[in-house]
Amino acid sequence: MFLREEGHEGGVWSAIGTPVARRCCRSHPWQGPGNWCPVRGWGWCFLISDSPDLTPDRAGVGDSMTVGMATGWGSLLQDEQQLEELARQAVDRALAEGVLLRTSQAPSSSHVVSYAPFTLFPSRVPSALLEQAYAVQADFNLLVDAVSQNAVFLEQTLSSTIKRDSFTARLFDIHKQVLKEGIAQTVFLGLNRSDYMFQCNPDGTTALKQIEINTISASFGGLASRTPAVHRHVLSVLGKTKEAAKILSNNPSKGLAMGIAKAWELYGSANAQVLLIAQEKERNIFDQRAIENELLARNIHVIRRRFEDVSEKGSLDQDRRLFMDGQEVAVVYFRDGYMPGHYSLQNWEARLLLERSCAVKCPDIATQLAGTKKVQQELSRAGVLESLLPGQPEAVARLRATFAGLYSLDLGEEGDQAITKAIAAPSCFVLKPQREGGGNNLYGEEMVQALERLRDSEERASYILMEKIEPEPFRNCLLRPGSPAQVIQCISELGIFGVYVREGKTLVMNKHVGHLLRTKAIEHADGGVAAGVAVLDNPYPV
Ligand code: ADP
Ligand code: MG
Repeated sequence: MFLREEGHEGGVWSAIGTPVARRCCRSHPWQGPGNWCPVRGWGWCFLISDSPDLTPDRAGVGDSMTVGMATGWGSLLQDEQQLEELARQAVDRALAEGVLLRTSQAPSSSHVVSYAPFTLFPSRVPSALLEQAYAVQADFNLLVDAVSQNAVFLEQTLSSTIKRDSFTARLFDIHKQVLKEGIAQTVFLGLNRSDYMFQCNPDGTTALKQIEINTISASFGGLASRTPAVHRHVLSVLGKTKEAAKILSNNPSKGLAMGIAKAWELYGSANAQVLLIAQEKERNIFDQRAIENELLARNIHVIRRRFEDVSEKGSLDQDRRLFMDGQEVAVVYFRDGYMPGHYSLQNWEARLLLERSCAVKCPDIATQLAGTKKVQQELSRAGVLESLLPGQPEAVARLRATFAGLYSLDLGEEGDQAITKAIAAPSCFVLKPQREGGGNNLYGEEMVQALERLRDSEERASYILMEKIEPEPFRNCLLRPGSPAQVIQCISELGIFGVYVREGKTLVMNKHVGHLLRTKAIEHADGGVAAGVAVLDNPYPV
């Protein structure tokens, strides 16, 4: 059980169970009594006993902001036999619901598929933080849209990064070319997902802190629509009908499809199609199909093509209307194209062709750039949100409340200071390059080595430094194909899906459309579901 300290620094510790560690944050175990964390400047905040679980019933429902995240499903996680039986039922239900991935052995084929990894139980999330994440989503949509329209801000923000990061530079080149020629598209569609972790504060409260916003290919909206039924099933089997009823319904795929449908409608050509750009080797196809199916139900046809197909069979007419295999395209939805490895020379040409067209791109290249880590870091500078969202102080305050510490590594005194701080306290920072898709960040000793190597090089501007968020771990059971059920200490990451549509200067849609909870073992610093690290989950609001 995790306990809050009754009084801080020097105060009285009250404990139930045997304290096994005392620390200021997960990064700094076992410092001497009376010490402060050298980085966060906090006093001690937790006593941790050897029994980290409470049942949800005992966990002080209604006191979510102070009880924190450490509680879980208690004794249920200790009964191995019961877990095995529950796991069998949960897996069968997941398969029946369509919580599916293609296998790594046959990623181009749906002949043999398996379930996407998931937690046996939903994980506790304070309702207040869930509500906060939902409430700020429309603000994030507005912000991304504002950045994407601000060519001066994008150029200033990315100028040092593109000198050293060839991928961002390539995207930026296309952005410049399109601006120079004149942007042909008049309807803009954003489908994004803002991701958060729950920072555990020294006073026992938890705070919502943004990890990043994904403006291209934000995935798992489809599968997340199907996991609530699985967790409800597990809880119902246990006779926990009250708890089962607390699992929130969730249907991001419907909301994402609504955004695409709106953009398609505004494009205004009844026979035009939606072009979904994906690779042939796509394990997560069922997630994408969920959105395709929603569109087909609205009589909007989707064709799946690769960048290579576009370069062979795509064309623009004199009005820069896009045609694929002779069919007009209203909306291009990218589920590819966010990593350097996705582009050959031929694929870059295809991307440029798509960007030059008047089809609605989701995202257009400027919106993809608005989702870079460098932009995220610059947005946290004093005054930047105010200048991008003038006259909207409430939105600015809501956004800023979710920002963690973000630091530029551009050459100069500010960057030097950030490097010195991170080398002095490596466990409190994350070093991030301009990459998506998980597994690219550097932590701990690896981060220190990279910073020492980069210290005197311009290359350091292609990275940013971020405060490391320290959620309170809890126990859950992870289910993965081919592995035995595994009860371990975990942390979660919450994503909120956002959709907006703009026609010219008029915003015609701006909403949140659902959530995604991913959970992973605490020992994995990085990586999502696709990277085989995190698993799908549902929030259990408390
Ligand atoms: P990507 O674009 O590769 O998904 P992210 O910024 O989301 O990059 O980082 C990948 C993963 O690394 C996240 O899902 C999270 O688990 C971990 N991570 C990223 N930033 C932080 C942070 N500031 N504190 C703690 N963990 C982080
Ligand atoms: Mg991420």
